[in-house]
Amino acid sequence: MATRYFLVAALVLFLPLRAALADEADAPLKSIKPAAIRADMRFLSDDLLEGRGTASRGHEIAARFVASQFEGMGLKPAGENGSFYQQVPIRSLTVDEAGSSATLSFKGSTVTLNAREDYLLVGDPGRRQVDIEAPVVFAGYGITAPSQGYDDYKHVDAKGKIVAVLFGAPNFPTAVKAHYSASWLKRQNAVAHGAVGYLLIYDPALENIYPFKMQVRDIALPKRNWLDREGHPNQYYPALKVVGVLSAAGAQQLFAGSGHTLEQVYAGARNHKPPAFALAQTAHFHTASVWSDAKSPNVVAKLDGSDPALAVQYVVYSAHLDHLGISTPVDGDDIYNGALDNASGVAALLEVARAFAGMPIKPKRSLLFIAVTGEEAGLLGSDYFASNPTVSKSSMIANINMDEDVMLWPLEDVVALGAEHSTLEGVVERATQRLHLVSSPDPQPEQVGFIRSDQYSFVRQGIPAFSLSAGFKSDDPAIQPAKIMEEWDHKIYHHPQDDMQQGGLNFDAATLYAQTGFLCGLLTANDPNAPSWKPGDFFGIAFAPGAK
Ligand SMILES: [Zn+2]
Repeated sequence: MATRYFLVAALVLFLPLRAALADEADAPLKSIKPAAIRADMRFLSDDLLEGRGTASRGHEIAARFVASQFEGMGLKPAGENGSFYQQVPIRSLTVDEAGSSATLSFKGSTVTLNAREDYLLVGDPGRRQVDIEAPVVFAGYGITAPSQGYDDYKHVDAKGKIVAVLFGAPNFPTAVKAHYSASWLKRQNAVAHGAVGYLLIYDPALENIYPFKMQVRDIALPKRNWLDREGHPNQYYPALKVVGVLSAAGAQQLFAGSGHTLEQVYAGARNHKPPAFALAQTAHFHTASVWSDAKSPNVVAKLDGSDPALAVQYVVYSAHLDHLGISTPVDGDDIYNGALDNASGVAALLEVARAFAGMPIKPKRSLLFIAVTGEEAGLLGSDYFASNPTVSKSSMIANINMDEDVMLWPLEDVVALGAEHSTLEGVVERATQRLHLVSSPDPQPEQVGFIRSDQYSFVRQGIPAFSLSAGFKSDDPAIQPAKIMEEWDHKIYHHPQDDMQQGGLNFDAATLYAQTGFLCGLLTANDPNAPSWKPGDFFGIAFAPGAK
């Protein structure tokens, strides 16, 4: 108690001194208000918006709301044709289960796998019917990582075969691990090794993060790709004639006759050294896909910088506006409102934008604010924007992403996921110090968060980026954020229950979160030097090889 009293006394005593130290950030920081964040979240997560599914009417209304907020703040449209919108061409596809099949053959006998129990197929965005019969090889995690001296394909020949792999990656440094866990990279790598199909095998680690029965529930949600000008789907590898997921039960059957058990494979994965070997089964998959094309907007606004030389560069804020829409009911509710995921991040982005817009002297660099679509369908809106930006690609010098501000406890620390790869780490350090917060390392590296939200789309274009989230520190032993988070992840995350009625929303914490985001952008925008990747950094080398 003494410590608390002393702190309060010190604050009161030194108030005039603090006031004397006031700078340009004081007023905009104070302008960010809990009620404003709450109000924006309440609107965006209202049942009327029907869960803001990508390319749905609810998402369109949400996009209009964000654009009108931007306009009211005095921001300039930075989408296409002088509007606030960048229309993203999107293909939504589902699998026609009745027209699809999967069988395994071994020594002349054939078994039929059961959809939704043994396996799930991923629709093919370029072919309505596709068929493949081929031997299968198990290739560990399916990773080839020369910089880490690691190659799952070293001892297996995948040419002309279907490749089966595990989720995740070996014990590389956190973000490198996250990068190599990415499905697109594993599929690309399978193709590079001559594979003709790709199967993801369930293991207990994946079961813990995303249970197979959740996958089954989520097939009600269409899979999506964005289309380029020629109509080609993004991250599409036509060499792969099947892409699917096998449950543990399905994998058991796939491994039959191989001389290896699934348990051996799981044990290898627990030690981060899964084996790789050819399987005995020949697999036959037929995938029938049904699709429709639509457009869904990113909402883009800009605020011009005040320094004639630096204003040509942009600090880019992003937050995803879409959520899962209407889907499988849980406890009688079928609207996936997405209050924390991610009305919270959009509300924070709006308040950050409003704070900047109210500054009498604007930051030196320009700012870009993007509420992206299609995040839940695989970072589509951000990837489309980062690949086809409405400003020049080289003018975007940093990305600050705000996704899932889990405002369920008083905020004492933040996690700037990925900031450690660039000089943005120092920016986060300065911002948190000023707000009497601390910056903590990723408390859940196994969740591979760095590749799971929109910052990763910018990283892949070589732009230093981080995603801001709440840390797990608490000086009150009665509050255990890690436990609260675990509970939330299991019961609320991607459930219809992520709405404004969930208990414990702390809008003071949300305000501090938004203030941190604001300050990080302000410091970046005013820094004479644009952020740079740290020398020798993995992502800098992988995605920005030409950068100094
Ligand atoms: Zn989500």
